[in-house]
Order: sequence, then structure tokens, then C-alpha cells
Amino acid sequence: MINNQLQFLSKTADILTNEFDSTRLTEELKSLLKEIISFKSLDIYIYDNVTNTMRDYINSWSIVEDRDDIYKSFESIKGQDFVINSKAYKLPTVISDITFKINSLYMPIVRDEKVFGLININFEDNTSINMNFLFLMKIFASQVSLKLQNILLNEQSKINVEFHDSMKNIAKIIETQYELNYIVPIIGEMLDRFITDHLIYVFLKCDNEYKLIWPKACKDERIYDALKQLTPETEYILTNNDKIGAFPLKSEEGEISGCIVARSTLDALSKRDISYLEQLTRQSAITINRANSYSRILQYATIDALTNLNNRRQFEHRLGQEIATTKRQNNPLCAMMIDIDFFKKVNDTYGHASGDAVLRGVASIIKSALRESDIPSRYGGEEFAVLLPYTHIQEAKIVGERLRKAIESSPIPVSIEDSDIKSINVTISMGLAEFNNKETGEELFERADKALYEAKESGRNRVCLA
Ligand code: GH3
Ligand code: MG
Ligand code: MG
Repeated sequence: MINNQLQFLSKTADILTNEFDSTRLTEELKSLLKEIISFKSLDIYIYDNVTNTMRDYINSWSIVEDRDDIYKSFESIKGQDFVINSKAYKLPTVISDITFKINSLYMPIVRDEKVFGLININFEDNTSINMNFLFLMKIFASQVSLKLQNILLNEQSKINVEFHDSMKNIAKIIETQYELNYIVPIIGEMLDRFITDHLIYVFLKCDNEYKLIWPKACKDERIYDALKQLTPETEYILTNNDKIGAFPLKSEEGEISGCIVARSTLDALSKRDISYLEQLTRQSAITINRANSYSRILQYATIDALTNLNNRRQFEHRLGQEIATTKRQNNPLCAMMIDIDFFKKVNDTYGHASGDAVLRGVASIIKSALRESDIPSRYGGEEFAVLLPYTHIQEAKIVGERLRKAIESSPIPVSIEDSDIKSINVTISMGLAEFNNKETGEELFERADKALYEAKESGRNRVCLA
């Protein structure tokens, strides 16, 4: 008997070492087990904490439904060795010659003393088993547990690698983009994708207050309480029975520049969740810090790095000058506000790198449709503002229409690695206003912006006058 059992364990070890495919793995274990006992079925179930259900490991990870026995066994097996015919048992330390009449046997799959799955064997009615067999099964279950841990961890590290790649892509984006209001939502979206069983919030610290950047709202007061407790020494804070974790984003000087908060929708955050979130926070901090130093470098720049148009700061400077000249000389002056239609969809469909290429393309069409004396700028994101000196509204309308049509009819070339997309078509909406000599530059553009809003509301891809 002992010989038999040793052989069984050694063969089990062989299978577990060499087989990685879940179906073949279980098939081989089944036929091995058949050599020492007859049984009807062997199945493996893994608890999925995202959906809070048991999953059939062999049967393409399908959710287990209408199987009370499985869910009950999963609950009652915690801290025990087996569930035999619906009753939980712990093995005594000495082998006795007790035998069981058995129909069903559940064994725990364990990691860090936590049960995360079950091995279930169903027998012919009233198969007789002895204590020896149970000891054997206990070793068998722990061998299988190790293997499954290994497989699941492997999947996790694959995710880590993917996350790292995404971060690299973001790093690429910020070579030309440094507006945190733009970058942080991309990071937030990505974290959300990677950490499915937690809600993720990203805060940035401005003037000693935490400002929520991602997602749009956070109503949980406990999160704000946690933020108040952060100091530069904090590694992370856990509250609400460890269901909320606050992970500070730190600058290169060690100061807090923001915080990533994870709120678990189910259990407390596990040690593994925490270490994962710590890594992600560190990576995110690096990206955000880089954007910050980039924006400090560009503080005195006048040109937008992506489009080569005037940046917002320079634009405001030029606006002040033009308004003064116009007032002095009593020349006409028009303001043009442009916003790309459904631009979010371009990013979502083709990726942010393609989105950037489109922004560059639109900028270059804008430039070529204008006169030398016009002053185009990237106002922010996918919005452009143009000043048209010496121009009445009727002429501005002609220029605007020409520009709108040019963009509508020009596929914008994008060349992205690993992609078949060659070009993308977009449209713009536009608002125009003529300076009335009584207003400020800001008020002039407010009116142009209102007209733009009307252009959007009335169907997009059109020009509206204030
Ligand atoms: P609408 O027609 O109403 O203007 O729809 P929209 O999708 O264009 O409007 P929305 O303002 O919701 O989306 C603007 C998007 O532009 C969201 C943001 O991620 C994206 N964006 C802003 N700046 C940049 C950038 O520099 N590069 C890229 N690729 N996308 C940007
Ligand atoms: Mg917009
Ligand atoms: Mg838009």
C-alpha cells in the first residue's frame, strides 16, 4: 500500500511539474487517481473575487450556478481539511483504522492559509475509504494548490508586464503632452482596467488640497478623511476595515503630489493587492513627476510642443497686444474658437498616439488655411483659438467655412506601429465673434465660445456666429 501511495505522489509531482494546460492537467490527474480508487468525477473550482462566484477551472472558467453543495463546502472547509458528504473534518494527527462510506469529497486549495478553491471528487455510492487515503489526499491537495498558485501568479505577472508596457506608452505620450488634466485620466482609466475588483480614484494636490482628477466624482467621505492623514512619511493608509487603501504619489523631493485611492468592492485589500497597488502607484508617480518637470521646463515656452502652434500662455499674451492695437487703430478683429468633434472617440478607437497625430494634422490644416497675419493657437486639449486681425465677421465666416470644409475633406495621415490605420477623418465645430470695442479679449472669446457651443448643439461640423 505504502509503495502504491508513494508512487501516486511521485507521479502527481511529475504531472504537476510538466503540464501547464488546465484540461490536460486534470485529465492526467484523473487517470492517475483511477489507478488507486474508482470514482465518478474530479473537478476543480476556483473562487473569483471579482464576481464573488466559484469558477469551473477546467470548464473554461465558467461560473458555477445551482450547486449549493460547492458554495456550502467552500464556506465550511475554512480551517478544516475536508468536507466529506457535506460535513467538514480535520484530520487527526495519528492514523487510525476508521473507514468512511463516502459519496463526495471536497479538499481545499490554499494560499497564505486562505482557501481560494476546491478539489471535488464524487464517488460511486458509498465507496469505502480509510484514513490512509485521506492522508494521501491531503498531500495531493497541497501539491495541486501549489501548482494552481503558480499558474495564477503567472497570469498576474503577465498582467504586470502588460501594465509596465502601458506605462511605457504613457511615457511616450508625455514626451509631447504634459497637461496633468489630460494625462491623469489616461492613467486612471488604465488602473481601472488592471484592477477590476477595486474602484480607483486619482487625486492631485493643488494648494494643499486634494483635487479629484479621476473619475468625475467621489462621494465617500472616508476617502477624504484618509487623505487628510497623509504625511510625506506615509507609505499607505488602510481604513474602513482595510477596504480603502490610500497610496500617496510622491515627488522626487519626497513631497506628496497626489494620491491613488483603491476602494475594494468586496473583501479587505489583501497583502497581494496592497503590494500590487504600491507598485502601480510608484510607476504612476514617475510618470506624473516627469510631466511635472516637463511642464516646469516649458513654463517659459511659447510654442505648443505637439502642434507647433502658439500655446495658451503665448496666445493670451498676443490677445492682449492685439486688443490694444485694435482699440487704438479702430481696426476690425475676429475671434475663432474651434473644437474637434467626437475627439474622445478617436482616442478610444485608435489610441492616444493616433489622437495626437490627428491633433497635429488638424493644426497643420488650420495653419495652411489662415493668412500670415492670423494668430492660431492650441487653446487646450483638442480646442484651438484663432485671432483674425483686420477681419470683419463676414470675411471670418468665409475663412471659417473654408477651414471647416478643408478638415472635413482631408483624411489625416497617422502612422502607428502595429496598426493598419492609414488615415482618420474628423470634423470640427467653430464659433466666431467680432470685437465690439467695449469688451475685453476674454469677453470676446467667451462669445466665440458660446457660438461654438451652439455649433455643437445644433449638430456639429458647422460654423456659428455670435
Ligand atoms: P465633442 O464633439 O462634444 O467635442 O466631443 P469630444 O469627444 O471631442 O469632447 P470631449 O471634451 O468629451 O473629449 C475631448 C477629448 O480630447 C478627451 C481627451 O482625452 C482628449 N484629449 C485632450 N487633449 C488631448 C491630447 O493632447 N491628445 C489626445 N490624443 N487626446 C487629447
Ligand atoms: Mg473639447
Ligand atoms: Mg471635442
